[in-house]
Amino acid sequence: ADRKRRAAAVIEEVERSLATPTALLRSIADAMVTEMERGLRADIHAQLKMLISYVDNLPTGDEHGLFYALDLGGTNFRVLRVQLGGREKRVVKQQYEEVSIPPHLMVGTSLELFDFIAAALAKFVDTEGEDFHLPEGRQRELGFTFSFPVNQTSISSGTLIKWTKGFSVNGMVGEDVVSELSKAMERQGLDMKVTALVNDTVGTLAGGRYMDNDVVAAVILGTGTNAAYVEHANAIPKWTGLLPKSGNMVINTEWGSFKSDKLPLSEYDKAMDFESLNPGEQIYEKLISGMYLGEIVRRILLKLAHDASLFGDVVPSKLEQPFVLRTPDMSAMHHDSSHDLKILGAKLKDIVGVADTSLEVRYITRHICDLVAERGARLAAAGIYSILKKIGRDKVPSNGSKMPRTVIALDGGLYEHYKKFSSCVETTLTDLLGEEASSSVVAKLANDGSGIGAALLAASHSQYA
Ligand code: ADP
Ligand code: MG
Repeated sequence: ADRKRRAAAVIEEVERSLATPTALLRSIADAMVTEMERGLRADIHAQLKMLISYVDNLPTGDEHGLFYALDLGGTNFRVLRVQLGGREKRVVKQQYEEVSIPPHLMVGTSLELFDFIAAALAKFVDTEGEDFHLPEGRQRELGFTFSFPVNQTSISSGTLIKWTKGFSVNGMVGEDVVSELSKAMERQGLDMKVTALVNDTVGTLAGGRYMDNDVVAAVILGTGTNAAYVEHANAIPKWTGLLPKSGNMVINTEWGSFKSDKLPLSEYDKAMDFESLNPGEQIYEKLISGMYLGEIVRRILLKLAHDASLFGDVVPSKLEQPFVLRTPDMSAMHHDSSHDLKILGAKLKDIVGVADTSLEVRYITRHICDLVAERGARLAAAGIYSILKKIGRDKVPSNGSKMPRTVIALDGGLYEHYKKFSSCVETTLTDLLGEEASSSVVAKLANDGSGIGAALLAASHSQYA
């Protein structure tokens, strides 16, 4: 009975510190809009970098030719080639390969990382078949999706600002990522030109727009989280160049670095942040994204094990190990709807090493997964809502005209595979928008839109175009 009381006390405190009432989400969205505006002014205190992508035109559907894309940004990287057939034929053929990045390369030297990537790309190019056609005398062209914050200096160059998501490669910050890749390709004897360097959010926005003309923003919910959207070029005070003809500029918000007193940070989040590779940074990302959700659950379970002997008299040593509980496992536990939570029990046995867990312990575990996932999903929805507010698509126009159809392209393993998470994002967004406006807003899964998007941007910025 005493154990139960102590468990209940911990759970109550967790519920309190993770709570995200709708009114709080609204004020978080307002704070985020303010931060976006600061970022667009290059205010020195701005938290959101609001990076200029140099993409002022999104794909139209007319793109044609053979293009490659390379996507680096998480645990895997992908290479892709696509034969584009213009307005009529669209995507004629596409092929891709996924390669997992050996963990030691994520924290090694840039030379090793880029040599590994270029070698895999060269191997992939070697398998190009008959269905792909490169006109005589032309160089192959590549769109490089690089999902870390980059200070873009043109559509095809930019320097790394910092690493995130568990990457910490030496000698890269401040370097031009395209020239690093190009040098590695040369070392591999691969003749290919990088014509577009894009963030994955920008790639997803481009790929999403190609599929659906009403796409105005893209959000990634994967290992990390980030968003990009189409801004009016004249609403970007820090843009000092000529106004683009389209009048638009795609902005990579880098919203993962958002931080605010309003964010519901628990002791578990603070401890995780403190022990992370990038303490004090990417706070919003650490509450939302796939790299961290399982770890937050682990920390709460560990507290319950200590304070309320959740897993018996001794605290299971496996539970002490950071990041043993991965978000896909959390998702599997959360989705267990069997009457005896059998799947969840098996996961606990696997991960925590405790064979016999009572039904009550399993329910508690599932409840913790629910609390952590729900907070993340609701905060993500607040972010999407803030972008809609920023571009005036959060409510029906006051002049009586109809609100235009507004599509958000979403991608990332977390959104794609964690159903309870993605449905919570959607219901929360509907709730924030209200019935009328939400009927014009669609959240659409743009599965691997960023690869094709990067290839499309490589096409529209081709040296031969
Ligand atoms: P990245 O963000 O690294 O480019 P992805 O978009 O594929 O790659 O996202 C991978 C991330 O998605 C994983 O790190 C994991 O956190 C999350 N994820 C993958 N599968 C699942 C799943 N079944 N349930 C919950 N999260 C998942
Ligand atoms: Mg990705």
